[in-house]
Amino acid sequence: MKLLVTFSRRDVKQPLIAQTVKDTGVLINVERAHVESKGGELLIDIPDKDTKIITDAMEKAGARVKQIEASVIRDETECVNCGACISVCPQDVLFFDETWTLCVDTSKCVLCGKCVDACPHQALSLLP
Ligand code: SF4
Ligand code: SF4
Repeated sequence: MKLLVTFSRRDVKQPLIAQTVKDTGVLINVERAHVESKGGELLIDIPDKDTKIITDAMEKAGARVKQIEASVIRDETECVNCGACISVCPQDVLFFDETWTLCVDTSKCVLCGKCVDACPHQALSLLP
């Protein structure tokens, strides 16, 4: 399960990831992080069975947690299978099948948005 975690320094006083791992015993994979002086946004990946315990622990610490069900979305009517999005993706989410049709493995997407910017046909969008 992917969770989008946002927090402000004002509300979250302790090291959020370290404290949550310590309290829950659940290993957290941080797939993307953007942290500034006033707060930040993290995309984390955890086992589905641990979604509640992690959500509860982080919300108790003052963070906001949102489950990410879908990630990058391809509009088949706009996509011309040019492949421009494939090379910019850092996670190998996008690839061609044997018929050179673009395929999307959303489970690996970290919502970086690079493919959206690279697509000349505006065929990709992010759906958090
Ligand atoms: S949003 Fe980023 S990780 Fe997801 S498919 Fe696009 S380039 Fe790849
Ligand atoms: S860059 Fe856009 S048009 Fe080209 S393959 Fe990717 S989604 Fe399709």
